[in-house]
Amino acid sequence: SNHQLLEQQEKRESNARSYPRRIPLAIKEAEGIHITDVEGRRYIDCLAGAGTLALGHNHPVVTAAMEKVLHDRLPLHTLDITTEVKESFVDELFMSLPESFRERAKVQFCGPTGGDAVEAALKLAKTATGRQSILTFQGGYHGSTHGTMSISGNLAPKQRVQGLVPDTHFLPYPYDYRCPFGRGGEEGAELSAAYIEQLLDDPESGILPPAAMIFETVQGEGGSIPAPVEWIQEMRRITKERGIPLIIDEVQTGIGRTGKLFSFEHAGIVPDAFVLSKAIGGSLPLSVLIYDRDLDAWEPGAHIGTFRGNQMAMAAGTATLKYVKDHRIPDHAEQMGRILMQALNDIQKEYPQLGDVRGRGLMIGAEIVDPAGKESKWGSFPGDGRLASRIQKECFDRGLILEVGGRHGAVVRFLPPLIITKEQVEEVTDIFRKAVEAAVK
Ligand code: PMP
Repeated sequence: SNHQLLEQQEKRESNARSYPRRIPLAIKEAEGIHITDVEGRRYIDCLAGAGTLALGHNHPVVTAAMEKVLHDRLPLHTLDITTEVKESFVDELFMSLPESFRERAKVQFCGPTGGDAVEAALKLAKTATGRQSILTFQGGYHGSTHGTMSISGNLAPKQRVQGLVPDTHFLPYPYDYRCPFGRGGEEGAELSAAYIEQLLDDPESGILPPAAMIFETVQGEGGSIPAPVEWIQEMRRITKERGIPLIIDEVQTGIGRTGKLFSFEHAGIVPDAFVLSKAIGGSLPLSVLIYDRDLDAWEPGAHIGTFRGNQMAMAAGTATLKYVKDHRIPDHAEQMGRILMQALNDIQKEYPQLGDVRGRGLMIGAEIVDPAGKESKWGSFPGDGRLASRIQKECFDRGLILEVGGRHGAVVRFLPPLIITKEQVEEVTDIFRKAVEAAVK
């Protein structure tokens, strides 16, 4: 039963540190947007492997691709040695790139986590430029390895790790609700860009010519914070003018989640490099770095990793990517996101505890605040992580799985599979409304 497995989990906590603390659940099976626990209770999964399950659990197109690999007795792992499965994946991936980037693009298989692909991107940029400093942003999340943790902002766990990668500079992300830079699209973008430019041009800022700038166009773990498209364009301009490679971390935003296949497309820009993981493996581990040939300064072998040859993930990834494009899943994500956002805005009118509702596509967050707390100069209230946790628990008790993130864990995050239907979105928001009502009491 649930109880037995959870008890087992509790006992094991002392020597197996990989259990979640907030989602008391033992899963038996999963299908689409639903998971079922060992006692037969069904939950809607709006966590979806932290955005990994673009097509939900066990999508038939994805499982069929995986079954074919087994049925045909194809190799499951080949390192870099090519196969039809690998060639199809690369073809599908290249065909998905914006045209202006396609001819210039190179792909590096990484091994096989998002964090590893970010590591590869940093190493590539350092090699290509011969420089070492990295421009990154407050609140960003890029992974949990030594290097990626170094460039992630505002993460409490970092504070206990000494000697992270030096020469990393944190710039302010346009966090609308709390930062005046984020305000008002164009004007905010200009302000922020002006600040960053003067920092880069100030010989006494201590910032050496940077090897790269890296950011997420929508901060995920940082609390579902979308950067205004004007700001993204400004960052592209600044980096281009100064010859700084721009790396976009598409690990969470990639493959349709924000309403475009790649989130940088919202801003009509192309970066010098970007990384994909999570959804690109169709629920299996896979990550790739895609970069402009101008950066191609490294020798074969400069970035390796045993599991960069995961054939099953490539087969699942090809099927996912093809389905996402053929069925216009990005458009669907955009529409569903709009419905979800509208419903959350309605709930916000009743409950000022929803200080800010924001997102892009199906990457949405509700920042939970204490409206009785001290209002900032910019009109925001203090984040209330405890209330966010209570809302999360009330949702869970009603069959809805959501994660919390952002500063103080105050942001309730909605990351459903992109195939979620309108009726299911309504079910999610009905549960959420009831959960908020119960939690604020
Ligand atoms: N970048 C972003 C934007 C992410 O959201 C994550 C994972 N949440 C990572 C990198 C790291 O990916 P992984 O956990 O696979 O290393």
